[in-house]
Amino acid sequence: MSGRELAVRLGNGVEVLGSREYHFDAETIGPKGTFCISHAHSDHMPKRIVGQSVVCSDITLRCLNNRSKKKQVVQAPPDGVRMLDAGHMAGSRMFQVEVDGREVLYTGDLCTRDRCGNKGARPARTDVLVIESTYGKPRYVFPPSDIIAGLIRDEVEDNFSQGRSVSLYSYPLGKSQDMLRILQEFGPFTDEAVFNATSLVRSDDDLLECQLWKDDEPGDPFIVICSPWLKRTPQEEVLRRKCVKRLAVSGWALDSGYRARMGVHEAFPFSDHADFNDLMAFVKACEPEVVLTHHGFAESLAVEIKARLGIDARPLIRGQRSLLEF
Ligand SMILES: [Zn+2]
Ligand SMILES: [Zn+2]
Repeated sequence: MSGRELAVRLGNGVEVLGSREYHFDAETIGPKGTFCISHAHSDHMPKRIVGQSVVCSDITLRCLNNRSKKKQVVQAPPDGVRMLDAGHMAGSRMFQVEVDGREVLYTGDLCTRDRCGNKGARPARTDVLVIESTYGKPRYVFPPSDIIAGLIRDEVEDNFSQGRSVSLYSYPLGKSQDMLRILQEFGPFTDEAVFNATSLVRSDDDLLECQLWKDDEPGDPFIVICSPWLKRTPQEEVLRRKCVKRLAVSGWALDSGYRARMGVHEAFPFSDHADFNDLMAFVKACEPEVVLTHHGFAESLAVEIKARLGIDARPLIRGQRSLLEF
């Protein structure tokens, strides 16, 4: 396959252009080409839908159609796209395609650690790897998920034993369900955002039991899992008045200013993304010829991959084509 060219570009999503045209996590679902959506987080979802169909998991499709009331889409036939579990949230997928004889793997957001009932993403041999770089700096290394889960449980138990209620801020889709799984024994309440997100991804094997806190104030002590940006709700006022213990979970909890920024008493570095070491191990195991980094600390991750693994790596820069010649 020498002398052929394959172009990868950050344009309408990540575009892989050769004799076929693939768009990953595109902003517009167009009428032409194959459109793949990795998962249901809003920064990966299309803002505009013109075409009819997308390649994605059942859960992602359900979330997408739930968001876009006007224009519904259907699942496209896989059309040469291999879907692999990304281990990031329910229904999250990586995509592998073959374009002009070269395998390209697009990770979307990924997590390689098994955690709270989610199986981590497994590497796949590929020629070109397009990888996310949310935690693409060496200082972002998380403690094992089960240790952090244990610490969160201990914290809740401690507060409960003193009769104190707890609020826990976490992203409604993904991490909140992880929290529901690890805090099941405490009969967790949720706010509306977390409740609705949970209803979308619930399945027979993953019941994710929780109670919606709407009107009546639960009796102390209780735990409520809420969206970090839903302030000024009536529930939020109750939480303030009661002086509940405020917790947050995020990979950014490793940053020193995070707790103050979130206005919480404790923050736990629990994430649904690969940390720096996970990213490096994943890249190495995929044995790519070239790695394209994007979505986060892209520049830093590319530099580290080159230096530590000796693999050609470059950040994807908006509007610039990365031409790959073979
Ligand atoms: Zn995500
Ligand atoms: Zn993302």
